[in-house]
Amino acid sequence: MNTIDRRAFLQRLGGGLAAASFAPLPLLAETRQERKLGWAIVGLGGYATRQIMPQFKNCRFSKITALVSGSPDKARTLAQEYGVPQRSIYDYRNFDSIRDNPEVDIVYVVLPNGLHAEYTIRAARAGKHVMCEKPMANTVRECEQMIAACRQAGKKLMIGYRSRFEPHNVEAIRVARAQELGPSRVIVADHGFNIGNPNQWRLKRELSGGGSLMDIGVYSVQAARYLTGEEPTAVNAVESTDRSDPRFREVEDIINFQLRFPSGVVANCVSSYSSPHNRYRLVGTRGWLELEPATGYSGQSMRVRVGNTTENRIPPEPTRNQFVGQLDHLSECVLRDREPLVPGEEGLRDLRVMTAIYEAARTGRTIPLA
Ligand code: NAD
Repeated sequence: MNTIDRRAFLQRLGGGLAAASFAPLPLLAETRQERKLGWAIVGLGGYATRQIMPQFKNCRFSKITALVSGSPDKARTLAQEYGVPQRSIYDYRNFDSIRDNPEVDIVYVVLPNGLHAEYTIRAARAGKHVMCEKPMANTVRECEQMIAACRQAGKKLMIGYRSRFEPHNVEAIRVARAQELGPSRVIVADHGFNIGNPNQWRLKRELSGGGSLMDIGVYSVQAARYLTGEEPTAVNAVESTDRSDPRFREVEDIINFQLRFPSGVVANCVSSYSSPHNRYRLVGTRGWLELEPATGYSGQSMRVRVGNTTENRIPPEPTRNQFVGQLDHLSECVLRDREPLVPGEEGLRDLRVMTAIYEAARTGRTIPLA
């Protein structure tokens, strides 16, 4: 086996192991250990309040026990709604005293990207496990510091990659790994939306770390990596940003990129802050699969074509809830001392790829990845 073949083989093997580790953990109830772990929500913005918090009522192993916010009124109202006692409301200054709250096992960081590192590290030092939203942080260095802090504290760190718990995406990974389409050859992954208010944090570099790539293009990076089960070896990219548009003074709009994988798969990816996209397509030697929408909050739809037959594929348990899936997954990992499916290292890998994408766009060169 030559070096490239061997590396591809090992990476595929790694992908297979990753797939195997996705097999759901046997239910805790069977081991009579069932209990709900307490979660503190840090940052009560749109994603936390509209998507995440309402899902806890459907969770089996997770409940909200504390809130962290800079807005006392908002925190008080939400505390009442979710039954969180006044003593378990924190602000960003007294957050560290959460270490004395035995009702909090896990801290969920749902702040702007530029604050993820600080609050993850503070949470770990306070002796709490951490779920951190995507992208993991603004820089590779911050990701490494977050991983180190959690390791030092002996605490779990998971990244909020909810698509890994979404049934259509899980089925797509299974189809790819089983080579039902033949060996994979090409991936097309497009993610974007038309961003509004020019004053929001997503358009401020210090808080966002970058533009569309950090926020939404990361889903294309993720899809390419989880569909192949491999790590890219080289990156090309092209950026297109109208710097006279008040939204794009500090960050990029469109950044399209190509990722080359050891097995020869090439992924062509779109990331945009000025046009709506949410789909991916995996093409093998015998057919293709397509998800559109692919990674939204709901409404995923999947088509598979093998030979001359195209079918709408309904995955097993199509309505399984990706939000509940990710929340209870981390709680179960804590209860059973297992490594999360998407640990900090997974966020770090994406940051490495995204850093290379930015460099490729800036220099016009192909950037190799070790
Ligand atoms: P948001 O603007 O709605 O909320 C951000 C919250 O952070 C607000 O409550 C705000 O008050 C607070 N905050 C604290 N310090 C701040 C500061 N210095 N500047 C601005 N806000 C500050 O944002 P969001 O959409 O809830 O995003 C939060 C995080 O969640 C981001 O990392 C984002 O990428 C991630 N997110 C993930 C998904 C997903 O599907 N996984 C979806 C949306 C957002």
